[in-house]
Amino acid sequence: MQKKQTNLCTFAKNLDSIQMAVDIKIQPVETSKISSVDFSNLPFGKVFSDHIFQCDYINGSWQNPVIKPNEAIQLNPAAKIFHYGQSIFEGMKAYKDDKGSVFLFRPTDNCSRLNKSASRLMMPEIPEELFMQGLKKLLEIESDWIPTTEGSSLYIRPFMFATGEGFHASPADAYTFIIATAPSGAYFSGKVKVLIEEKYARAANGGVGFAKAGGNYAAQFYPTQLAIEKGYNQVIWTDDNTHQFIEEAGAMNIFVRIKDTLITSPTSDRILDGITRKSIIQIAKDNNIDVEVRKISVSEVVEAAKEGNLKEMFGAGTAAVISPIAGFGYQGTDYNLPELSDTFASFLKKKITDIQTNKSEDPYGWRIHA
Ligand SMILES: *Cc1c(COP(=O)(O)O)cnc(C)c1O
Repeated sequence: MQKKQTNLCTFAKNLDSIQMAVDIKIQPVETSKISSVDFSNLPFGKVFSDHIFQCDYINGSWQNPVIKPNEAIQLNPAAKIFHYGQSIFEGMKAYKDDKGSVFLFRPTDNCSRLNKSASRLMMPEIPEELFMQGLKKLLEIESDWIPTTEGSSLYIRPFMFATGEGFHASPADAYTFIIATAPSGAYFSGKVKVLIEEKYARAANGGVGFAKAGGNYAAQFYPTQLAIEKGYNQVIWTDDNTHQFIEEAGAMNIFVRIKDTLITSPTSDRILDGITRKSIIQIAKDNNIDVEVRKISVSEVVEAAKEGNLKEMFGAGTAAVISPIAGFGYQGTDYNLPELSDTFASFLKKKITDIQTNKSEDPYGWRIHA
């Protein structure tokens, strides 16, 4: 974190001087609600574990790290989160293997991305030690909440929002950072039909598209609803300027396979630097799949579809890992993708989830013992 704010440098130094030991207070629930949860039938992100990790940024430093019951939060109506949307988040997962060991996947990448989002929204960065120690302690306490059935995991949602008060349109002076968790089943069932967007945009040059800022998702809901009304499941975002290049698939990065080449858009101001995306690029290269990171024009995708060269399209993100696309709509025409038995999507998904869940070797050092 090169652009660390001065006040945080002070905090980081304080941390150094106490050997990076974060003193986390533990306030356990009186009665766990775990016995009321049906672990054989988990939705995605709708059932929450007993505790959260919380830390508050007050008077220029992070304070009061605590693990406490997951309960309603009280905020003043003038808290700036409500008015100016200073709100950012991350999405990650914890997995438990047969032996009961708990693993995270590239967790410090989530921390550094959270901090990139934070600087763009004039929010304080969070020291990695605080993020990682809060996360690990929470997972230790919530260990029984980590599901083990195929495709399931403990979805982890770190987030930060402005609690500082005032109606003046300026950054808040106080923030809260929370990590909440949700035992979850697989994200999507089935292939999705997508609509290539010709009017709306999720991000613009110079904007905040690269950040996991709450407002980005609020802005996607309306165009997505229009697509749903037309019979699609999801929007393929195109560049805001010309709408001639495909950029993301809903809240996932996009991959296109033309003949045997896998193509994904380069990250930019407008495109989120997904951890799944970069892991897929690496794994594909190491398995002799021809990968190109370059702009993908809508016309080349349409041409490839017409000529039968468009073999696959899929979204990539932590929640679904890989979400195959069945077909797309563009300018009033629907194009269907072939039903292949051997897909890059399923090959890559297995490779990545086997690493995540400790079913295979991890030559990259991505899998971290929690
Ligand atoms: C979170 C997200 C992704 C995927 O990122 P991962 O790190 O792979 O989960 C892609 N695009 C958008 C817009 C996102 O919000």
